[in-house]
Amino acid sequence: MSDSISQSALLPQLSADMRRPLLALTEQELLDWLTSVGEKKFRLKQIRKWMIERRIKSFDQMTDLPAALRQKLTTEFRFSSFEQVGHQIASDRTEKLLLKLNDSELVECVVMREPGRHTVCISTQVGCAMGCVFCASGLLGVKRDLTASEIFEQVLVIHRLLADDERVTNVVVMGIGEPLANYDNLMAALEFLSSEENFGLGARRITVSTVGLPKKIREFARNGKQFNLAISLHAPNDELRTKIVPVNRNIGLNELLDAADDFFEVTGRRISYEYVLLSGVNDQPAHAEELATLLRGRNAHVNLIPMNGVSELVMTAPGEPMTRRFCEILEQRGIPATVRKRKGADIDAACGQLRLNREQQR
Ligand code: SF4
Repeated sequence: MSDSISQSALLPQLSADMRRPLLALTEQELLDWLTSVGEKKFRLKQIRKWMIERRIKSFDQMTDLPAALRQKLTTEFRFSSFEQVGHQIASDRTEKLLLKLNDSELVECVVMREPGRHTVCISTQVGCAMGCVFCASGLLGVKRDLTASEIFEQVLVIHRLLADDERVTNVVVMGIGEPLANYDNLMAALEFLSSEENFGLGARRITVSTVGLPKKIREFARNGKQFNLAISLHAPNDELRTKIVPVNRNIGLNELLDAADDFFEVTGRRISYEYVLLSGVNDQPAHAEELATLLRGRNAHVNLIPMNGVSELVMTAPGEPMTRRFCEILEQRGIPATVRKRKGADIDAACGQLRLNREQQR
């Protein structure tokens, strides 16, 4: 494992950079700016190709642009929404980045490597209001929503980090924050990532994970694209779910599952139910039985996730026999289930753990 953290992560920003990040501009805004500085329209295509496809780190590297234009870009815009202030590399080559925003807030993104697959996990908010009891991200509450470009630029940061023969194949919106609580910016970011004119990743390669905001799930079902939906369930009944995912108190499993069924009816896409296994809390055979009953007849897949340790929390993952037993019960009851492989186990792999550690040092 290797770990590098810049000291600037720990320092408050004295004054925010007033320049806008270039990718926060719409195409029309960039075109208007080019016209206003006396540049030709075809420069738009060149600049966007550099920003979205190429693996560069500054405007200076846009070698087919005149030096004067590169200078104007540098004066007027920031190259990126982020400063990279932390970088951890696990022995399985999972990499986690800690990114500082212009207002000094911190977010994380991760790339996980499997043969032929590079999955990027991105954040949608600074912190999270959902308060799931096993999660480091919720411990400090939510500070603000990320903008659309702050969401999709995390994928570009990883894209630029990968080797020449590697590419981003999948995106999971499972990092810090509740994506559907920042719906409009999320959808604008997904539009950027999935449209051919921009990043061009197929919608079927993008998964949004939510603790479940029923109205938003129904809206998401009707967005017209084939994105995947994952629901963080974590418990087979309301009483236990409300203890683990406090926001469930205002939602309730019935309403959530109705919205999930609606998503399936509208899109025909199977839903993944995420279930973090917490030792002695929700990992008993009786819980597996109850979960199987809850999901019976639904086109569902259960992703069992042994909890990633968070040093501030007392909860732990169950041992392997317990995890295997839980999975077997589901399968025996006809519910497809898999245990998610641990990635990045020797770095701060839990969602929000790296950010939390830095926040505590400030
Ligand atoms: S698990 Fe997800 S929804 Fe729950 S507190 Fe953490 S970031 Fe928020």
